Amino acid sequence: MTSAVALLPATPYLVTVVEKLSTVLIWLPMIVVQLPIEFRCLTRLVARMLLQIALELLLDASLEKFEITVPIAFAAPPPVGVVVFAFVSEQPPRVSASRAAGSIERACTQESLRESTLASLTDRVVECRACPRLVAWRERVARERRAAYAGESYWGRPVPGFGDPGARIMLLGLAPAAHGANRTGRMFTGDRSGEFLYAALWRAGLASQPTSVGRDDGLELRGCYVTAAVRCAPPANRPLPAERDRCLPFARREIELLEELRVIVCLGAFAWDAALVLLEARHRPRPRFGHGAELVLADDRVLLGSYHPSQQNTFTGRLTAPMLDAVLARARALAGLPAR
Ligand code: SF4
Repeated sequence: MTSAVALLPATPYLVTVVEKLSTVLIWLPMIVVQLPIEFRCLTRLVARMLLQIALELLLDASLEKFEITVPIAFAAPPPVGVVVFAFVSEQPPRVSASRAAGSIERACTQESLRESTLASLTDRVVECRACPRLVAWRERVARERRAAYAGESYWGRPVPGFGDPGARIMLLGLAPAAHGANRTGRMFTGDRSGEFLYAALWRAGLASQPTSVGRDDGLELRGCYVTAAVRCAPPANRPLPAERDRCLPFARREIELLEELRVIVCLGAFAWDAALVLLEARHRPRPRFGHGAELVLADDRVLLGSYHPSQQNTFTGRLTAPMLDAVLARARALAGLPAR
């Protein structure tokens, strides 16, 4: 582990991407320890940048979530130092599509919800305590809180879907973030993924404002509904298959209740696979997720793929604002909404 942050032999302009590191918990002390060493050969500008990144880590150190690594290379003077940082991320869990789909498929036959309105479904969702591990986790996060939100009262319960009951477009994510939706009580609200997403929805004419900071901030969605496959914030942002299975009937019922729904924008591969099963798409071979991927279902509704607006994706440029704008413009067109 330490070799990843040790000084390396001089190799100008070395930039190495290191993936699949351990948790922030492990990496954070390394960064703190390494910084004074690195200062000796870094320019003032880079040193300031490092401090800024380290500060971000300290503020965002929800140690259950990981992981994006950003190695930074220093070319001169030798030796070249490579410092690896672990960032908090909203990245969905890396579950193989076939495994996820199989367990989801089983889940959809387990329970049939009868709530007749989105409001009654919301009441059912927020009272749910069916997953002991997730209940304990969401409530522990709400009790302990992140330092930056120490003065706030966390939601600490399942997060219901949010939006226009007449929505033609649904955005389907994975699960609430521990200090985002689990804090504010509204999907994608109060974290950077949400900042990115709601700004895009506003540009696309699907949201009344570009910001989303709390349940009482006045935000309204227009023709659009935002939800997730799992309603409780999971440790490490990774629900267990059984937890995922237990929660999926909520999304299924939402889809049934949104009678005008034409397009489901799946934020990430997990959401894509979940939507395939929830909509009983039986295509073989199973259509693969991709950014901009489209699948027309038997009833003419359309699945549309988008990279998840996680920090990992937006920070690295894997998902840019124009890329998400293009997906939402396509969603509008497929849903029969006028172009912006
Ligand atoms: Fe209930 Fe879903 Fe939360 Fe499990 S994840 S406790 S099923 S709301």
